[in-house]
Amino acid sequence: MAGLPEAVAAVCRCTQSKKQYGIEFRPVEKGTWRALWSFPLSEEDAQFEGFDETVIEGKIVYEDHYNGCLGCGIRGFVVCRKCKKLCCGTLDGDIFHCPWCGNSGKVVYGKIAFRAGGNF
Ligand SMILES: [Zn+2]
Ligand SMILES: [Zn+2]
Repeated sequence: MAGLPEAVAAVCRCTQSKKQYGIEFRPVEKGTWRALWSFPLSEEDAQFEGFDETVIEGKIVYEDHYNGCLGCGIRGFVVCRKCKKLCCGTLDGDIFHCPWCGNSGKVVYGKIAFRAGGNF
């Protein structure tokens, strides 16, 4: 697809276990990304690999066999309004507690934007 990377990976953190992992995304069309799978990612690797080169913006859809959050198994993401980092979705009502920066707030549904990298 012209102008879009073939695949990117983003660093995500589980809102419940605070476990950090990576997720591979591929563009479906402009403004739509498909989550393919989540994979183990150490804290060191996450700092290493330039996971902030690309901005993913729009709607997220899920591959049929997408394995969900490596911490709690949830399919779904929340982006923290304060630190802009990616976290797994929450089932704890509509209140979100950021596992990265500790910020809390109400979950707002809709398009999301976060940073990802092309070299992994
Ligand atoms: Zn989780
Ligand atoms: Zn945060």
